[in-house]
Amino acid sequence: MVNNQSISETIDVLGDGKSFVRLINAMGSDVDVVNGARVSFGKRKETLDNNDRVLIDYLVKHRHTSPFEHVTFTFHVKCPLFVTRQWHRHRTWSYNEISRRYTSVGLDFYIPKAYRQQAESNRQASTDELLTFQTGAAGPTIQDAVQDHTDGAVAFYNRLLEMGVAREQARMVLPQNLYTEMYATVNLHNLLHFIELRIHPGAQWEIQQYAKALLDLAETAAPVSIKAIREHRGW
Ligand SMILES: Cc1cc2nc3c(=O)[nH]c(=O)nc-3n(C[C@H](O)[C@H](O)[C@H](O)COP(=O)(O)OP(=O)(O)OC[C@H]3O[C@@H](n4cnc5c(N)ncnc54)[C@H](O)[C@@H]3O)c2cc1C
Repeated sequence: MVNNQSISETIDVLGDGKSFVRLINAMGSDVDVVNGARVSFGKRKETLDNNDRVLIDYLVKHRHTSPFEHVTFTFHVKCPLFVTRQWHRHRTWSYNEISRRYTSVGLDFYIPKAYRQQAESNRQASTDELLTFQTGAAGPTIQDAVQDHTDGAVAFYNRLLEMGVAREQARMVLPQNLYTEMYATVNLHNLLHFIELRIHPGAQWEIQQYAKALLDLAETAAPVSIKAIREHRGW
């Protein structure tokens, strides 16, 4: 459900009107980064001045990371299951996710318009070359074929439920392009670690888009820190 109290814009990450990420809550900002860094001198600031901007730049440049742990974010995310599987490898986040044991309603699926070719040099990756042809001489487009497969899986899932099969077992026939929703909480240091690994061109395109959206949303709460990050890391 959309939370109207959310403090940020909602970003349609995959551009299909279904995916999203929004910032629900942010605790702390740039001033908490500098206060964390300066606490050893017994100093505390209420507002940021130019010395603080220089300090944040220094911290980013020299990977003095712990002050960034004093800013924390909660994001509401809707992403395909296969993206969640990659995301949940990041153990420094806290997660709560929709339970398909609990509900069988609101099934949404990611049906990309574009399909990437398998990379040959990197067995894990795809190329930027897009496939545009039909699945067969007179066959459907790839997008239509994925849609048909998804519709078939949903029909089968519903049939299993009608037969009395429990939701927790019936869900096993749903494909990985099923959307899931989660609340995900993380501090700025660990967020930046996630973004560094997942914004990289070697990461899957879909999770790269989420990493970019998270960076944009973090910027609304800690603009000076994120500006320095963008400059030093080239993101
Ligand atoms: C492009 C790409 C491809 C990948 N391919 C695969 C794959 O094929 N198969 C696969 O299984 N995974 C794969 N991964 C996942 C990867 O191995 C990591 O699990 C994932 O990126 C999380 O990284 P992390 O452990 O640094 O992050 P986090 O779990 O967020 O941990 C952050 C940091 O905390 C420390 N830390 C956390 N927990 C521990 C711990 N238990 N012990 C020691 N240190 C800890 C580490 O320093 C770690 O870097 C891939 C990741 C990327 C980005």
